[in-house]
Amino acid sequence: MRMWMVSPELMCRNHLLGEHVELHMLAGCIQRGKNINGFLEKGLVDPSLIHSRHEELVREMERRGYRHQSPIAETGFPASGACLDPQANLNELSSRCPVCRSIIKASKEK
Ligand SMILES: [Zn+2]
Ligand SMILES: [Zn+2]
Repeated sequence: MRMWMVSPELMCRNHLLGEHVELHMLAGCIQRGKNINGFLEKGLVDPSLIHSRHEELVREMERRGYRHQSPIAETGFPASGACLDPQANLNELSSRCPVCRSIIKASKEK
């Protein structure tokens, strides 16, 4: 599970929908009391941002016309979490995924 935390409009369909699914998985793990320390230690997730990040991703999904029918809990997530690095994540996404890369590149040329 991973929260990329980059601007949702820079993500390809797979990565946008993938992060959205992973947010729900993360929320489910927390609600079931599963240990997510491994993800926290690697700086992959920040539970305090689950709700706001979910809103942000859903807004972009709706803008693109994707369906969303999975509300997420408003509360019950830890107030603090790992410190994520959106810029490093953007670079990683760009080196991993040719589709994200072309969107990111196009956004810089605007
Ligand atoms: Zn959702
Ligand atoms: Zn991608």
